[in-house]
Amino acid sequence: MTRTNDIALFQAVDIKKNYGSVTALHGANLTAKRGEVVALIGPSGSGKSTLLRCLNFLEKPSSGAVVLGGERFEAKDFAKPNRTARGRLIGLRRRVGMVFQSFNLWPHRTALENVMEGPLQVLGVSRAESKDRAQALLARVGLTQREHAYPSELSGGQQQRVAIARMLATDPEVLLFDEPTSALDPELVGEVLGVMQSLAQEGRTMLVVTHEIGFARDVADKVVFMTQGAIREEGTPEEVLHGTRSEALRSFLGRFRRNEVRA
Ligand code: ADP
Repeated sequence: MTRTNDIALFQAVDIKKNYGSVTALHGANLTAKRGEVVALIGPSGSGKSTLLRCLNFLEKPSSGAVVLGGERFEAKDFAKPNRTARGRLIGLRRRVGMVFQSFNLWPHRTALENVMEGPLQVLGVSRAESKDRAQALLARVGLTQREHAYPSELSGGQQQRVAIARMLATDPEVLLFDEPTSALDPELVGEVLGVMQSLAQEGRTMLVVTHEIGFARDVADKVVFMTQGAIREEGTPEEVLHGTRSEALRSFLGRFRRNEVRA
């Protein structure tokens, strides 16, 4: 099924990132079209998470740029951001939502309050509207019955679904997922992947760092393989996961053979 069109919605342009003497990214170029699902795979420490975090400037790239819907965010303009630059960064982060491995919910707020917070603070909508929105989103992720539960009363899979609802509440154009199922018990992975798959089917633009090769194969339009801070291969799931592969990719995928059989 083709859900994408040819508009490049989101782009990383030659993004480099250094942490002191460690170069985590050597100059990554990546494009997501509107409605495209991009899966980033690769061994631990290959720079996937750093790239994702640079895309919404959660980490400031050392150089390069991010382009979102034609607006260009040059790393050099944000090294020491003035008021205008800070305003632009807030705008970027509003348009690019993110879900983390560790959920990052407010522990002393209920599921409903966690989801209401963004629209209240960021969009400035009324409490009533924010509540309606949050309830609809909790229904969307299958958690209507748990809206008054605190995070500690929820399973990891439920917490991650609340985190997805919270991200959606501010209506972002691009959704970033940083290993969203890695902290979950295996039996809870499917409920989160199911929600992500339904978002993909809705035509959302998504970039997903994942170890779930089955998800990359079945849901992604494009798979990107990274090692040592660089993108080594990219293409359709068929091309990357089943086509001619570099030794590094063959060896990486070999470790996931069990997942592929299971999925
Ligand atoms: P991945 O997501 O593929 O596991 P990361 O992006 O987390 O990889 O890490 C890439 C490299 O950058 C690793 O060598 C890691 O140790 C380093 N790195 C990541 N974050 C930091 C940080 N905050 N400070 C120093 N080094 C970091």
